[in-house]
Amino acid sequence: MKKTVKDVDVTGKRVFVRVDFNVPLDNGKITDETRVQKSLPTINYLREQGARVILASHLGRPKGQVKDEFRMVPVKEKLEELLKTSVKKSSENDPSQAEAAVNSLEDGEVLLLENLRFHPGEEENDEEFANALASLVDIYVNDAFGAAHRAHASTHGITQKISGECVAGLLMAQELKFLGESVDNPERPFVAVIGGAKISDKIGVIDRLIETANKVVIGGGMANTFLLAKGYQLGKSLVEEDAIDKAKELLKKADNLGVELMLPKDVVVAEKLEEKVANKTVKVEEIPENMMALDIGEETINEYSKVIKNGKTVIMNGPMGVFETEPFDHGTVEIAKAMGNSSGTTIVGGGDSVSAINKAGLEDKITHISTGGGASLKYLEGKPLPGVQVLQDR
Ligand code: ADP
Ligand code: MG
Repeated sequence: MKKTVKDVDVTGKRVFVRVDFNVPLDNGKITDETRVQKSLPTINYLREQGARVILASHLGRPKGQVKDEFRMVPVKEKLEELLKTSVKKSSENDPSQAEAAVNSLEDGEVLLLENLRFHPGEEENDEEFANALASLVDIYVNDAFGAAHRAHASTHGITQKISGECVAGLLMAQELKFLGESVDNPERPFVAVIGGAKISDKIGVIDRLIETANKVVIGGGMANTFLLAKGYQLGKSLVEEDAIDKAKELLKKADNLGVELMLPKDVVVAEKLEEKVANKTVKVEEIPENMMALDIGEETINEYSKVIKNGKTVIMNGPMGVFETEPFDHGTVEIAKAMGNSSGTTIVGGGDSVSAINKAGLEDKITHISTGGGASLKYLEGKPLPGVQVLQDR
């Protein structure tokens, strides 16, 4: 277990908090403030303790250059609204040259540095840049789970240079608890629901979950490749020819370990992928040659929902169908509802799965929704994240 902000004395200290404020922007307006919202518990805790809070994040891809459209100004305004207090913003384009602004902070005040990626040293994990950041502060906090799979100056290098403690923020701690401990040591039955477009994106995760879960439930495009590996005809469905061998291997592994790897029994098919296009539900043995499988069918939904309902720990990664296009969102929405109705611990990770949960308005019914797409996949695979490894253990 990693130390968190609650394990260290932060009063009066200059605390660097690596947050994930990489929010979607449209013409300078934040279109989804979730990431800012999720950082509030750590910021509020630090303020209550009388820390001097120095926030830093990347925003977009300015690629080591100062670009006006990626300035942190909209984030500062959003933060002020949500924290109901004024937030100072460093006027320096180089986030590591904010000494004057940092030194002007009083206990409990908040300063937002400029976009970390305005400096090429951030993504290069440059020593000098990391050192400059470290010299601004006393304590390091990482609350940006979504950036922890990258070894950048603000997630890695700074921790090698700072003399004070390096700990997890409250959101980071929550991510580690649910994606780490809950999966490593799950209350059983442990059910893993895996979907999305391709097997190849998620081989590591499926492989690991076959080892730890009691049932692995497969949907989405990747189910097609598993079905193909089992000898079914898939028509025009999305399949990954070059992942067939891997699929066979995974099926065999599940078999050897006595883990049930469940595949769809029926699917919704259409001739093309279009909004409200003519479609029908067929058994997987009967997929027409000129059609493609775009969602799981009703029988599969019922079967999967029962398994999910009986799970004590249920993790979902990836949608069950092409949920962006109606009516092929149906399977994903129903599975999300089954997650919401499960009395067990429910965890959702993956960018598209999280959008699907939000689209269905079910975010309040899920125990933990991960903020990290790539990071959550890597962590679920059991791979160490560079930004997590450098935090102190309890
Ligand atoms: P996540 O971001 O949750 O990890 P992925 O990125 O792996 O999920 O997969 C999401 C994508 O998979 C979506 O764009 C969705 O349209 C696509 N998808 C799901 N089922 C199918 C299918 N049957 N055929 C083609 N694409 C699919
Ligand atoms: Mg995705």
